[in-house]
Amino acid sequence: MSITGATVRDWLHAYADGVAERRAELTQLDTAIGDGDHGTNMDRGMRKVVEKLDAQEGDDIGALLKSVGMTLVSTVGGAAGPLYGTFFLQLGSKAGGKEELDLAGWTEALDAAVTGVQARGKAQAEDKTMVDALLPALAALKAAEGEDLGDALRSSAAAAEEGMRATIPMEARKGRASYLGPRSVGHQDPGATSTHMLLDTAAKAFG
Ligand code: ADP
Ligand code: MG
Repeated sequence: MSITGATVRDWLHAYADGVAERRAELTQLDTAIGDGDHGTNMDRGMRKVVEKLDAQEGDDIGALLKSVGMTLVSTVGGAAGPLYGTFFLQLGSKAGGKEELDLAGWTEALDAAVTGVQARGKAQAEDKTMVDALLPALAALKAAEGEDLGDALRSSAAAAEEGMRATIPMEARKGRASYLGPRSVGHQDPGATSTHMLLDTAAKAFG
């Protein structure tokens, strides 16, 4: 398997389908510690992403990912829109002009994406956000340097899952959930959940 323009398109279609299927679950998680719109936000954004992708020609991975980022910034409100938008814009910035990425290229792109999300949202580890799924996923990828692409992507997805579950006992320090203070403890973060889904879908689409 490999990361090409075609498999990037497959990844985004599969993610849009996954978000649509699990929209209620994402919304329920956000109802517990936020305003209950994460599922509908992400579903609206990803529907638009797929519509735009299907109308876009070419397999330049950077161009595809940048257009995903711009679509999310313009169609998803709240915290998640600009953060996911930044994620994809930065992911694409390392893949401009490329129609294929190897493990090193994907790791470099994800590194830039995570850096962008943190620069934008100022969240650190253990603030109970999507960053808690992203940081372990990136660390696992780096640790898998030189391994088979599929194996590396699967360990990255598994690390994101662990990071997602680890948000349950955390007290939120960023985003709407932080308004709840200690009452945010005991709930899984919705953004970490949609981020795990994104990386899990990547492992399935590319690996
Ligand atoms: P909103 O909070 O505006 O309603 P969403 O419900 O769509 O937006 O997204 C909420 C998710 O956004 C949270 O679960 C969290 O993972 C993520 N998030 C919120 N603020 C930040 C931040 N500053 N940095 C990183 N992620 C954040
Ligand atoms: Mg919300």
